[in-house]
Amino acid sequence: MDQRTCLVTGASRGIGRGIAEHLASEGANVVVNFRASEKEAADAVEEIRSNGGSAIKAQADVTGRREVEAMRDLIHDEFGEIDVLVNNAGITQDTRFEEMTREEWDQVMDVNLGGVFNVTQTFFEDIKSADEGRLINISSIVGKQGNFGQANYATAKSGLFGFTRTIALELARSGSTANCLAPGFTQTDMLDEVDDEIQEKIRSEIPLDRFAQIDDIAAAVRFLASEESSYITGEVIDVNGGMDL
Ligand code: NAP
Repeated sequence: MDQRTCLVTGASRGIGRGIAEHLASEGANVVVNFRASEKEAADAVEEIRSNGGSAIKAQADVTGRREVEAMRDLIHDEFGEIDVLVNNAGITQDTRFEEMTREEWDQVMDVNLGGVFNVTQTFFEDIKSADEGRLINISSIVGKQGNFGQANYATAKSGLFGFTRTIALELARSGSTANCLAPGFTQTDMLDEVDDEIQEKIRSEIPLDRFAQIDDIAAAVRFLASEESSYITGEVIDVNGGMDL
């Protein structure tokens, strides 16, 4: 990954931070995007640099096109065009569908799909003109299976499957690829928000009998970002401990 520049959205903590650290450990210049958690983003950059890696932080709410465009200018000034985009930023607003407000529906669509639209379109030319550019969208097992109380999130995450396949076709002639990763339940702040009792029920249904660690997900992204994945495009890669077996 030497000389490659990778943008990871929502990289101040959780899975995004793990992805940023893994890509930096391969020699890439990494951009740690965040919305509000500036201190955590600064910590992530500091940790990468202290391990000999190259990273900067870049604030932008992915729902704001102008903020995303300003972030592109900052990245271009610092590192030049990007080669790899990881659309990782995502939120949940869980409640039973009967009680779900239109606002809860819209907020999840706005970040999890609208954000992907904004960031991907803003950096599309970079990825297309890169030598083997990579677009990696972080979906979820919930996009495949659905999940009680997550009608908004499941809809947004399954939307990424169609998006990824289409962009894979539109990028193909340039030699760049687009793939989706569908993690299972992963030990992060997002999972901590789920009631302990429900967490235990989910865990008991995982054949490998444990939640994913951030490194399990980040390692798969590292592979998709590498030249070793050159002939894989338009795919959904499951990393879920066997949950859909
Ligand atoms: P997390 O710990 O809640 O972290 C979310 C990250 O996204 C934070 O860095 C947050 O930054 C950022 N973010 C949120 N809204 C944003 C916005 N509008 N613009 C820019 N950044 C924004 O989440 P996670 O568990 O690591 O999840 C990361 C991704 O994996 C998500 O797409 C999630 O849907 C997916 N996923 C998670 C699991 C799981 O079990 N954890 C399973 C499958 C898939 P701020 O703090 O600054 O807002």
